[in-house]
Order: sequence, then structure tokens, then C-alpha cells
Amino acid sequence: EKYQIAIDGPASAGKSTVAKIVAKDLQYVYCDTGAMYRAVTLKAMENGIDVNDEIKIGKMLDDTKITFKPGDPVQKVFLDGTEVTEKIRQTNVTNLVSTVAAQKRVREVLTDWQRQLASDGGIVMDGRDIGSSVLPKAEVKIFLIASVDERAERRYKENLAKGMNVSLDQLKKEIEIRDQKDSTRKISPLTKAADAVEVDTTSMTIDDVVNKILEIVDS
Ligand code: C5P
Repeated sequence: EKYQIAIDGPASAGKSTVAKIVAKDLQYVYCDTGAMYRAVTLKAMENGIDVNDEIKIGKMLDDTKITFKPGDPVQKVFLDGTEVTEKIRQTNVTNLVSTVAAQKRVREVLTDWQRQLASDGGIVMDGRDIGSSVLPKAEVKIFLIASVDERAERRYKENLAKGMNVSLDQLKKEIEIRDQKDSTRKISPLTKAADAVEVDTTSMTIDDVVNKILEIVDS
């Protein structure tokens, strides 16, 4: 039997890293829903659309296509046929995505795409509202958390590896602001589903977290 596995949690808790490995182990499809919100935000920015303009962004979605292809170390993301894997991780996109993700039409359209992708099961989907709203019937629901210091530290190391040098304090601030926006928005905010298993990854390795999730899937 092929399950739906939902992995939610705050920013930089390691969701996509572990979700991708779990999907590979189980030979499931992996879907990074955050990448979809990021791609929509990037498209609005590139088209000179104000990120607060819900009407224009809503219309833009009528001819927007976001697709994924397997890749290492991260899944490749395509926006209207053009690869945007790296562009969607830029600081300016990161800092505006929560504004776009709070909009009604954006959530309706993206949730719809996500449900279609998951309809046959055999999927690991990570995000903020997957267990609570997108796939309420998912057989496995995980809520990953880690202290904000640990999350900022992980982001800092990732950035250094990419040659970016943003201070730890700045990263911590950005993470806190994004979490705040994501958990207080009106529509499907970041929440732990009632039936989700919380895993605190603060002092766990990636392997530990993956094994823990695979244990939960098997149980
Ligand atoms: O997971 P990631 O940090 O790439 O997500 C980027 C942003 O997309 C989040 O901060 C949030 O605003 C939005 N998002 C969302 N619902 C999801 C996944 C991401 O609102 N399921």
C-alpha cells in the first residue's frame, strides 16, 4: 500500500532534506510545496507585480506552471519551463513569500495542484499545512521542530557553503518573522495537525530523523 506522508513544521527545520531522503528510500514521489509558493512569488517579482496585489497574482496563476524533476542535492524546480531551483532561494524571495502565501487564491490554486499530485498516494509532501489542511487524511503526519538557534545555525552553514555570508542574528530574525507570518495568517496557517507526531530535531542528525520517520511509517 502506498501512503501519503505529510511533513510540516517551521522554517529551516530540515523538512525538505529529510523528506527527500524518505521519499527516495520508499520510492515515493517527493513534493516540496514551499518551492511552489516561492516560484509564484518569484514570478510576481519578475513581472513587476506588487506582492500585495492579490488580484494580479491571482490572474497570473491562470497561466502558471510549476513542475519538479529529481536532482541532487535538491529537487529541480521549473517555472513555466525555466529552471528556477536557485533563484527561488534568494533572500528577496524568502522574505516576501509569506505575504504571497497568505493570499486566498494562491492557496486555493496551489492546494489544488498539491492534492492532484498526492491523489494516488506514494508521496512525501513537505510544507506548513499539509497534514492540517492539504491532505487531512494522510496516513502519516510528522511535525518537525528545532530550536530557532539551531535552525539559524543550519541555515548559516548552508549559506556559507553557497558562498553567502549573512550574520547568524540576521538569519534568526528572518526565520522568526517568517514563522510569525506563517502561523498567524488567516487561511491554513502553520499548525501541527491533531494527529501529527512531533519530532524535535534540535540534537538529531539527518540520519536520526530519517530513521525516526521510517519507523513511524512502518508502525
Ligand atoms: O518550506 P519553505 O521555507 O521553502 O517555504 C517557503 C514559504 O512558503 C513559507 O515560509 C510559507 O510562507 C509558504 N508555505 C506555505 N504553505 C506550505 C509551504 C510553504 O504557506 N505548505
